[in-house]
Amino acid sequence: LPSQLVAAKPILEKINQAGYEAYFVGGCVRDMILGQELHDVDIASSAYPEEIKQIFDKTVDTGIQHGTVMVLDHGEGYEITTFRTESTYTDFRRPDSVTFVRSLEEDLKRRDFTINAFALDADGQVIDLFNGLGDLEKKQIRAVGDAKERFTEDALRMMRALRFASKLDFTIEEKTLEALEALAPNLEKIAVERIQVEFEKMLMGQAAGQALLTMVEVDLLPYLPGQAEFVTNEHLLYLASHLQNRQPQSLAQVWTLYLATIVRPAVDLQKELRSWKLSREIMATVGRLAPAIQKADSLTIWDVYQINDLAETLLAVLKILSFSPTLLRHIEELFFNLPIRSAKDLAVNGGQLIKAGLATPGPLLGKQLSAIELAVVEGRLENEQEAIFDFVKEQ
Ligand code: ATP
Ligand code: MG
Repeated sequence: LPSQLVAAKPILEKINQAGYEAYFVGGCVRDMILGQELHDVDIASSAYPEEIKQIFDKTVDTGIQHGTVMVLDHGEGYEITTFRTESTYTDFRRPDSVTFVRSLEEDLKRRDFTINAFALDADGQVIDLFNGLGDLEKKQIRAVGDAKERFTEDALRMMRALRFASKLDFTIEEKTLEALEALAPNLEKIAVERIQVEFEKMLMGQAAGQALLTMVEVDLLPYLPGQAEFVTNEHLLYLASHLQNRQPQSLAQVWTLYLATIVRPAVDLQKELRSWKLSREIMATVGRLAPAIQKADSLTIWDVYQINDLAETLLAVLKILSFSPTLLRHIEELFFNLPIRSAKDLAVNGGQLIKAGLATPGPLLGKQLSAIELAVVEGRLENEQEAIFDFVKEQ
């Protein structure tokens, strides 16, 4: 058993001793069987939230309306969710109501894919009601039950299918893929933020290239956030070809890669960024890196200076896009040889210029400082007080 599950085992036992069932469920069981690192340990139980709260001293109501209580144990937090079913999805996204049940089977049935529907008991016994083990063997993503029904209930599951296929380098089973193709338009009903999360994880997966090809195959693009006139299937194919061997390692890399390469004019980029509802930070990063990616062959030292805190992201994305090692080394050298990293590194500031009688407060001062900054970065002026004073006098 992986160490995280060993550490959490006493929790299952304590619930069992109180007379209820408890299991590890979801991604942690899948990842354990695959021998991969676990993210979070999720526990499902027949005990109702109130009953869980009576069993443990320290609990936090993290999602009590969905049946989730967090138990604190040795500095770790464990989410324990009551077995539940989700009934009547009228809007293709969230269940109208959650019903707590005492049956593990009911709880596993509502889960998306067979490989996400395992349970593991305190004795280390795997419960596999839908032949998820067979699907792991076949390396395939298969919906629990009828794929069309499951994707009609919750359209986000289609993005999740692609995400897991990419993450695990699995194929999507035939019926599940057919359902994806048939129901892709329902994705339009899903909140952009939720699609965003699955899409990011998809692009960071080991088989992201294949997942993009599948997206093209089932014609998913029209139903994703973003502007159809900017991003086309050709763009996805272009990206897919570059994602065969290397994947982005951060969200900044994901979005720079996806948007800076495919959306040409800057105006469109802003529109595209907004339609994906990306964070301010990501929007700012992509906004700064997109022009640099588009003129990667002719970056000046001034360009490089302006993106210097994003150097690693820029280089990583250019590498994924198969820019030549020579060019990458050249850009790396530009970064390395920058005389200053920011205006704060200048040997002279505005106050000192005023004191020396070379400037007066006002808009002109800003222009003088910019001129100094540019000259220093371009190597035309030494970053040294006397030299800078002489430079200002000459201007
Ligand atoms: P990760 O390792 O990325 O966290 P995970 O399998 O734990 O993968 P989560 O998104 O954390 O994925 O979801 C936890 C579990 O909840 C899943 O394994 C699955 O059983 C169930 N689940 C999550 N989202 C859905 C959904 N939209 N429909 C049905 N079941 C879902
Ligand atoms: Mg998880």
